[in-house]
Amino acid sequence: MPSQTPLPKQYFYTFPWLNGSSEILLEDMGLLSQSNEATSVVNMIKKLFTEFHNLDQVENDLEYRITEFLKQCAESKEKFTTSTDDIIHLAMYPLLQIILSLLGNRILGNAMANIYAKHCQEELRSHSTSKQHGSRNKYNDYQIQSICHNLGLECLVTPRNMIDHIIYPFQMDFQSYLSVATKLTGDRWKLINRIFVKGKVNLIRDDVILLLREMVRNKTKPDYKAIDPELKKKIEDIPEISQILERVEKIVEQNSKKFTSSLFIADEKIEYELFPPCMKMILFRASQGENLSHNERLAIAFYFLNTNHSIEETVDIFRTIPDFDESIARYQVEFAAGSRGKGKKYKMYNCAKLRSFRLCKADDPKFGDRLCIQGGKRKDGTFQPIKNPINDYVFWKKVELQRIHRSQIPTTLDGSKTSQTSQDSVSSVHSEKTKK
Ligand code: SF4
Repeated sequence: MPSQTPLPKQYFYTFPWLNGSSEILLEDMGLLSQSNEATSVVNMIKKLFTEFHNLDQVENDLEYRITEFLKQCAESKEKFTTSTDDIIHLAMYPLLQIILSLLGNRILGNAMANIYAKHCQEELRSHSTSKQHGSRNKYNDYQIQSICHNLGLECLVTPRNMIDHIIYPFQMDFQSYLSVATKLTGDRWKLINRIFVKGKVNLIRDDVILLLREMVRNKTKPDYKAIDPELKKKIEDIPEISQILERVEKIVEQNSKKFTSSLFIADEKIEYELFPPCMKMILFRASQGENLSHNERLAIAFYFLNTNHSIEETVDIFRTIPDFDESIARYQVEFAAGSRGKGKKYKMYNCAKLRSFRLCKADDPKFGDRLCIQGGKRKDGTFQPIKNPINDYVFWKKVELQRIHRSQIPTTLDGSKTSQTSQDSVSSVHSEKTKK
């Protein structure tokens, strides 16, 4: 990669996800040459809140800005409401990463990544106007090239690169291209649909901006395992952090529809092991990047939303399918969850309906399950047919798994089981089911 002139400091204020942004922050705070102890995470957080504490002008108060931002995330807004070109904008970025890691809330984490990604796209597409030059791109092609290089993307400006009467002002190394494009859905991003010459992918400016947007989305997603429990405790004890966490909890509560879906059993999330064959097949097809039919999409969305999965987790299922569009998928899932429209939440299809859609996979060689074919075995030895993928299948699957578990419990010296009998397990699942 050819050597690059360093990025202007202003870029790090506007795009705090750039590599090297923390050095800029430390430098601005006069902490770059400080010892490791002085710049430990806990001390650094305290210093940031002290340095950017301004109750006379809340707009310049770090705690206020962070809370405002998290509110935007919780409300699924896609914009910053505070300044995006000053040092406080830079200072809040590492703190947001830490706070979201502490919270472990994927919905807020994804919303944060979405806001930073959209901001990057809008900023790079924006224009500046002056008397001398009129309106022109705020960031020229060479500045976009520098941002790519900062992020490790090998991309060069090629101003006179004309192919079939179209100018492609950028060429990106194919490995750099693939590292981002494979995360984007849609045929247009496949290498086969690109003008690919001598290991370089020829791109128009807007393609490079969209690739950067995706790169930023991935880069800004919090690492939920980054903070160990001991450090977590110390950070949570910092007064500003504990106040922010408290406020976020309230904001989440106020937006609870977004964060929860109806419960199959209170606080229990139905995991893959309990998924019926029909749903496993749809998930498998989605994971293979296959397009899903309308009925398959609805079925899996209804299933997820009715088994204690959040809207975010439900939207995630569709990310791998070729025609995925975040805003459309989110709108549809929120609609199905009752967060939009008339507020009606859709129930799961029953098995008869799924059969009529040819989605029942009871006897599929890979995913089929005897339980779906013969039904759940009752106390008296008769079988109860599976008529619903949640109410019946999940219930009887639990019974089955508990029976297997019981049969594996070693017997004691007097020959009795060390735990309750298999029949007891049916009762325990039953009582759990009726607790709803
Ligand atoms: S019987 Fe019902 S739950 Fe089982 S695969 Fe068929 S549709 Fe799904």
